[in-house]
Amino acid sequence: MECPRCHKMFQSHSIGEHTVDVCESCDGMLVQQKHLIRLLETIYAGIAAAGEGCIEEQPAKVPDQGGGLSCPLCGETMGNSGYQGTHVVFIDRCSSCWLLFIDGGEVGPMAMLHARTTHHVESNRAFQSEWVAGFVRRHWVGPSV
Ligand SMILES: [Zn+2]
Ligand SMILES: [Zn+2]
Repeated sequence: MECPRCHKMFQSHSIGEHTVDVCESCDGMLVQQKHLIRLLETIYAGIAAAGEGCIEEQPAKVPDQGGGLSCPLCGETMGNSGYQGTHVVFIDRCSSCWLLFIDGGEVGPMAMLHARTTHHVESNRAFQSEWVAGFVRRHWVGPSV
């Protein structure tokens, strides 16, 4: 499948026990809606393990890159709406395939929003993949030197 944002081919990566498709050009990722919560918990565990992210503060708004994307699976136009009804992160969603496209830079703030609503922190959750650690660094902590 190709990225609906920039039309490069997705690469598969494991986050926890799930496989997600990531575009290595724009860092956008394709996630099945049913896997979203576990994914955000894993990403948040990485943010917390890095000593980053303040659960007391609402994450800053991420500038949206625009909706109207075509679903890479069925070709329908994806909806574009604020995650959790906030105006912090806008995600693209195919209502036929239950598929979400999360632009690069959005998954970290989404993980923070999720952590703020659940208030449960499981910092020892499986977070052992080098790739996940690198991804969290790029998306939240900033590029490693
Ligand atoms: Zn892309
Ligand atoms: Zn679709």
